[in-house]
Amino acid sequence: MRSKIVAGNWKMNKNLGETKVLLTELSAKLPETQAEVMVAPTAVNLASAVTQLGSSTIQVIAQNMHFAENGAYTGEISADMLLAVGVDTVIIGHSERRAYFGETDEILAKKVAAALAKNMRVMFCFGEELEDRRSVNHFNVVESQLKNALFTLDAADWSKIILAYEPVWAIGTGETASPEQAQEMHAFIRKTITEAYDEGVANNVSILYGGSVKPANAVEIFSKPDVDGGLIGGASLVADDFVAIIEAIG
Ligand code: PGA
Repeated sequence: MRSKIVAGNWKMNKNLGETKVLLTELSAKLPETQAEVMVAPTAVNLASAVTQLGSSTIQVIAQNMHFAENGAYTGEISADMLLAVGVDTVIIGHSERRAYFGETDEILAKKVAAALAKNMRVMFCFGEELEDRRSVNHFNVVESQLKNALFTLDAADWSKIILAYEPVWAIGTGETASPEQAQEMHAFIRKTITEAYDEGVANNVSILYGGSVKPANAVEIFSKPDVDGGLIGGASLVADDFVAIIEAIG
C-alpha cells in the first residue's frame, strides 16, 4: 500500500539558526499522524537538521542533487554526499529547477537514475504551466514529463519513487488547483502509469499534490482518493501552518 506523505520544501529560506528554531518548533508540535513527514532545508543545513532531529520521525530530505558521482562540477552536490550526512531522499525536477536552472527532462532522467543507483528515494516533481492548461494540453504535458524522466525505469524501481504533481500556475501564487482538478490529474497519472507498467505499480506509488496548499484547503485536497499528501512550499515555513496541514491528512 502506498504511504501518505506531507513534505515541506523550504526552498532558499531559513539560515542555520532559523532552521534550528523551526525544527524545534515543529518537533514540539508534531501531531500523531499516519503520514510520513518530511522537510527539505537548503543543502548547507541538511547535516545539522539530521543531527538535531536524531531519532525523530521527521525525515530530512534534499531539494536537489547532481547526477555525476563526483568530480569537476563546481557548486554541485552528489548522491553520496547526501547519503553521508544521513539524507536518503531527494526532490528532483521541481519546476523552479526546470525554469531557472535549465533542468530538462533529459537531465532529470539522469538525476533520477543516479539517485536510484544509490538506492535513494526520489520525490519527482512535474506539472503543466498555465498556457498548457488554457490550451487543454495539460494531460499531454504531464504524460510526456513522466515518460521522458521515469518510464524507462524498471517496475521494481518504482518502490523508490514518490510523485509530486505541481501545476506551475499554482506554485507560490496563492492559486490552488481545485480538489477536483487535482483528483482528475492524479487519476490520469495513475492511468498513465498503469498503461506503461501495470496496476500494481500505479496503485503503490504515492502521488502528492503541490501548489499553494494551506491549512484552509488541505482537508479537501487530501480527501480526494488519488491524492496521497502534499508538497508544501510557503506554508511549510510556519510551524503552525505545517502542523495544521499534517493534521489535515490525519
Ligand atoms: P507553494 O510551493 O506551496 O508555496 O505553492 C509548493 C512547491 O513549490 O513545492
